[in-house]
Amino acid sequence: MGQTRVFKIASIPADGVGKEVVAAGRTVLEAVAAQSNGKFAFEWTEFDWGCEYYAKHGVMMAPDGLEALKSFDSIYFGAVGWENVPDHVSLWGLRLNITQNFDQWANIRPVKFLPGVTSPLRKADDTELDWIVVRENSEGEYAGLGGRNLSGRGPGNEIALQTALFSEKGCERIIRFAFELARTRTVKKVSSVTKSNAQQYGMVLWDETFERVAQEFPDVRTESVLVDAMSAKFILNPEDLSVVVASNLNADILSDLGSALAGSLGLAASANLNPERRFPSMFEPVHGTAPDIAGQGICNPIGAIASAALMLEHFGLEAEARQVEAAIEAATAAGQLTRDIGGTADTETVTDAIVAALSSTL
Ligand code: ATP
Ligand code: MG
Repeated sequence: MGQTRVFKIASIPADGVGKEVVAAGRTVLEAVAAQSNGKFAFEWTEFDWGCEYYAKHGVMMAPDGLEALKSFDSIYFGAVGWENVPDHVSLWGLRLNITQNFDQWANIRPVKFLPGVTSPLRKADDTELDWIVVRENSEGEYAGLGGRNLSGRGPGNEIALQTALFSEKGCERIIRFAFELARTRTVKKVSSVTKSNAQQYGMVLWDETFERVAQEFPDVRTESVLVDAMSAKFILNPEDLSVVVASNLNADILSDLGSALAGSLGLAASANLNPERRFPSMFEPVHGTAPDIAGQGICNPIGAIASAALMLEHFGLEAEARQVEAAIEAATAAGQLTRDIGGTADTETVTDAIVAALSSTL
């Protein structure tokens, strides 16, 4: 037998249901490794950063935390935020601290319809629907540029400026990433989303860059759609979507719409990638801490487990990633559904069903 490949994973469950879903994803990944006959293994290191850590130490993560994370092959993240810490402090202190410092400029969010899960879309059981939102994750509307109290005049006259930053290099790399991703899919198509009729600088630069990069990919079909029209298209005719690429804000909104259409925020997976692999990438469910159901063992683990599948893919374990996705589909098709998607199963039951299905999807 050859040497076992060991992937070092930093686990950061953080707050609320983050703890429950990371535990579930880890159980599934361990089961995948156990079936690999020594081909690969995962070495876990758990970090207790988050809002409880903040209550004790006054910071969201250890001051040398980024340095500690650098040596890992990837980061598996839960969700961050709790009532004792203002949202912008918890988010910037941990999650965005990692995505920004590790230059995770590509955020991918698959939208996937699962068998046995009803969707608010008319085509309720249409399981073929599956597309990926590629989100620019480093600049755009979330560049943090602007200021308040700019009028220099008294109360009632405040002016605030929120500036979006679009660089040609930033647009080009995310657009090229989207084209390369499209080439790996059955439907080779990229839809670019802007609001360039109303925003005439940055978004026009985006559109022009899109047209230029598209020339290098003659085998990939393209379309440019305004974000308002794309929102309608998600609902009315999403059949021909494959890869949808958009700026930080637009993709943020569209991917939440996508996960709601697929049935629940609890199903949605994501990867924050540093495609150059200079830093570890981070895999996490799209949902937040879900304080209304946290600690009860009833949250949906599928978003986190599907994110673990994206991590397997990142490790080059394509077959194993497909195996986990097939096991998720087998579980939902068999009616193993948590409450958010109309069932009564708890987190552990669904996780166990997915682990059980793994052996039959080999
Ligand atoms: P945040 O405010 O932390 O960004 P969010 O707005 O993305 O989070 P949450 O506040 O976590 O999302 O949840 C929104 C709703 O979705 C809540 O009603 C929550 O219970 C539900 N929800 C989120 N995640 C899950 C899950 N994994 N399973 C079941 N329901 C979930
Ligand atoms: Mg919320």
